[in-house]
Amino acid sequence: MFPALSTDVLIVGGGIAGLWLNARLRQAGYATLLVENASLGGGQSVKSQGIIHGGTKYALHGALSGASEAIAEMPRRWRAALAGDGELDLSGVRRLSDAHYLWSPGTLAGKLTSFLASKAVRARVEPVKGEALPAALRHPAFRGNVYRLDELVLDVPSLIGRLAELAGDGLLAAQEIAPLREAGELSGLLVDGREIRAQRIVFCAGAGNAELLAALGLSQPAMQRRPLHMVMLKAPTLEPLYAHCLGGGPKPRLTVTSHPAADGQWVWYLGGDLAEAEGVARDEAQQIAMARRELNELLPWVDLTPARWATLRVDRAEPAQSALARPDNAFLAEQARLLVGWPTKLALAPDLSDRVFASLERDTVRPAAHPPLPALPRPPRAQPVWEELLP
Ligand code: FAD
Repeated sequence: MFPALSTDVLIVGGGIAGLWLNARLRQAGYATLLVENASLGGGQSVKSQGIIHGGTKYALHGALSGASEAIAEMPRRWRAALAGDGELDLSGVRRLSDAHYLWSPGTLAGKLTSFLASKAVRARVEPVKGEALPAALRHPAFRGNVYRLDELVLDVPSLIGRLAELAGDGLLAAQEIAPLREAGELSGLLVDGREIRAQRIVFCAGAGNAELLAALGLSQPAMQRRPLHMVMLKAPTLEPLYAHCLGGGPKPRLTVTSHPAADGQWVWYLGGDLAEAEGVARDEAQQIAMARRELNELLPWVDLTPARWATLRVDRAEPAQSALARPDNAFLAEQARLLVGWPTKLALAPDLSDRVFASLERDTVRPAAHPPLPALPRPPRAQPVWEELLP
């Protein structure tokens, strides 16, 4: 039988949401404990493309939506954290690219004109040419327009590593979670049979939130999953590229990010429209064939003969929206001591933390005294997904 523990905030889920919140709370003087049942970052977070969106891609249809406004602050906050003078000290985290690019293949110049018609959009993008082009587009055969977006791209495994450091001794690997109730009220959780009492309990378990809520007999807030079928390729001929390629519709036709593999080669990670509904309906071979066709058409000078390919199916987990729409902000629901959150974007993890802090402030939940934590089994960090799929 393990001794009981107490803390101010007990967090379940060690993805970007839980780890960011945990680090912010610790910095503010709260005692925290974060429970993870698999690996840190191993849910959606290390499978993400690592783009710190400022919302510009949501403006592809010409107007800035609510989402674009809410997310616009995020690149500045992340840049401050990476520079070591923001809300968290992320100064050691690897930045893959200082900018993400928007590129319209030659035939689609007209489409960009309507996108750039908005003054708010023009303020956020900068046309680039010649030597300033991303390496993979710097080819005499390249035709099209390229714009630099003020959106950085991060190496998510290194981000998760830094946030795990900031968690200090407050990480716990555990499998079984059940409610701990006293006088009919939720007072904490039973974690692998160990009683953990807390002033607040925050579920940040991504796709795991639905099951955790069910274990507490709750069905709200409801969750939705939006599936993706992503593609990865690795080859010595690839050069780094971080860009949305514009298609005819409101979503990018292709979103390419590039990730350094342990063997020194680059891995291209392909999302965007390719990975959405029609891509989800394709089997692996069909999806790879489609990705190959897209790259051959868009970047015919890139030699794909030595490439090794893989696909990855992964769901985005979010609060339920009407017609599986994309939510606009980080989401937090509250029921007495229990808080349930989804950031809805890696980039919006700071927004989710703000919402938790606002809730603590409103309810005057202050740091209290707790006995020091004993040595606890620590969850492992997730491996980069490209190392697993394309070793
Ligand atoms: P997760 O990262 O899924 O973490 C949840 C954690 O909880 C996991 O570690 C899991 O093991 C743990 N867990 C689950 N159940 C339990 C339990 N019962 N007990 C204990 N632990 C549990 N966003 C961007 O901003 N930029 C991008 O470029 C981007 N690209 C993306 C690409 C893809 C393919 C996908 C799928 C998403 C992308 N996103 C992007 C969205 C972003 O990845 C997610 O919004 C974000 O990572 C969610 O973080 P999270 O911490 O809520 O969830």
